[in-house]
Amino acid sequence: MTHADVLGAGMAGLLAARVLSEFYDEVTVVERDRLPDSPVQRRGIPQGRHLHSFLSRGCQLLDQFFPEILDELVDSGAHVLDDGDLSRIYTRLGAYEMNRTEKFADPAALVIHLASRPLIEFHVRRRVAEIGNVKFLDRHDITEPTVITRDRITGVLLVNRDTGERTTLDADLVVDAMGRAARTPGFLESLGYDRPEEERSAANWAYSSQLLRIPDDAIAEKMALIESGNGLPRAGLLAYEHDTWILTVGRQAADGDPPMDLTGMLALAEQCMPGSILAALQSAQPLDNIAIFRNTGGLWRRYDRMQNFPAGLLVIGDALCSLNPIYGQGMTMAALEALALQDYLRDGHDESQRFFRAAAIHIGPTWAMNQARDRVPSAEDGRRSLRNRLMTWTMSRALKTAENDIVLTERFMRVSNLVDPPSALQDRALLARVIVGAVRALSTRASVREMPTNIGVSAYRRAPSPKWGRGFSSSTRRSWCTTVRLARRRVVRAVAR
Ligand SMILES: Cc1cc2nc3c(=O)[nH]c(=O)nc-3n(C[C@H](O)[C@H](O)[C@H](O)COP(=O)(O)OP(=O)(O)OC[C@H]3O[C@@H](n4cnc5c(N)ncnc54)[C@H](O)[C@@H]3O)c2cc1C
Repeated sequence: MTHADVLGAGMAGLLAARVLSEFYDEVTVVERDRLPDSPVQRRGIPQGRHLHSFLSRGCQLLDQFFPEILDELVDSGAHVLDDGDLSRIYTRLGAYEMNRTEKFADPAALVIHLASRPLIEFHVRRRVAEIGNVKFLDRHDITEPTVITRDRITGVLLVNRDTGERTTLDADLVVDAMGRAARTPGFLESLGYDRPEEERSAANWAYSSQLLRIPDDAIAEKMALIESGNGLPRAGLLAYEHDTWILTVGRQAADGDPPMDLTGMLALAEQCMPGSILAALQSAQPLDNIAIFRNTGGLWRRYDRMQNFPAGLLVIGDALCSLNPIYGQGMTMAALEALALQDYLRDGHDESQRFFRAAAIHIGPTWAMNQARDRVPSAEDGRRSLRNRLMTWTMSRALKTAENDIVLTERFMRVSNLVDPPSALQDRALLARVIVGAVRALSTRASVREMPTNIGVSAYRRAPSPKWGRGFSSSTRRSWCTTVRLARRRVVRAVAR
């Protein structure tokens, strides 16, 4: 009889349990919270009070692991965006709005289901609980894994939170899915192993979230995501089940505390959201307390780089890599890691690093893309190599062109929804569209002012905020204008040749 223990019943733990149930006779999911039998918030998932949504790739994987679960979500009130109708989605990267009037060529690849984290987790948990060889052990704290020799993990030590009773749960495989506060690095150290190297991304943002009710016909969109840079606030608004909405507004942590009430949130939203959505927000009714989140830093524990690692232990989800939450990728990444786990077990491997290396193939490109998106612009930007400046310019032109070019919009959406890798943006055919768009813009003499970007994919023109250009010296701005002028000339010359 083979047995696997999953530590933590968050999204990564649930998905891991689903996969493990194919390969082990028994799977036990251990969780410290009491697991609710309805879709409600719980203490162990404080992030559930913030804007949460699966990306399209995550929805595809959910459907793969739990056929028909998406229909069940819709029956419970989730909204589905599946027809490529962009009028229901407002997306802005920097100063550039994605196309909103045309339709995707392949809408099936970009389907999104919008529902609150408690509702999604409830349905996933219900489906996992229906699997015959999976059982849940809630109200138990995991203290540490157990070992025979330091080379092999044999189970975990648990403490019953109600009685204080300590027990050992034996296992052939233990999967740590305990989220951001992972314990594996300390445990490895206590066994005489090295701690994993850690890669971190900057914790620049602090944000507030508020559950709302918005009158039925007050808003045309179901989803608005505004990824400003250059010091401006960011915001997201998603339709949830039963006429509820979640509004999240973030500001750079260096600019002060996140707002503590709806009035403060709306004041920030005014700096970045379009007027029609702001008008709808004015009539919104708050439904819950505001939730605050301050640590947007990412952390990737590089178990894949460790020379030695005990057998019988894997780490998944945020415990392995927590991505900057403002990009909404964590649950989708957990699903991709579950896919890597499935392949690893299917191939009959027992060497943990093979799993970590397979997971790194999913994590790496997204981590790198986020690093670029996270980067705060600095005066150094103006002195970067011509190649870098040209790349930044090309990316900002691509975003500008995407405003009226559905092919580019669809490509950006596919990459940000993890359907395609970031390298899909380096396609030569796309570059040709960008150049044509740039030449058209030149010929119409559109007066666009360029700025460096903090994400490598957005640039700023004068638009919604009077604070445009804040944080840049006038010499940096001049330097950028010159760069852009030069780059334009080069592109026009190249096209003419
Ligand atoms: C503010 C915020 C917003 C986010 N927004 C999005 C989004 O829009 N889209 C998205 O895809 N992702 C988002 N994420 C990320 C997403 O929440 C996680 O990546 C995802 O839930 C996977 O996490 P996990 O299962 O690894 O950990 P968690 O979801 O944190 O689950 C860990 C579980 O382990 C349990 N646990 C912890 N310690 C113990 C212990 N000692 N004993 C027993 N049980 C224990 C906890 O109670 C919890 O149930 C967001 C994250 C944050 C912080």
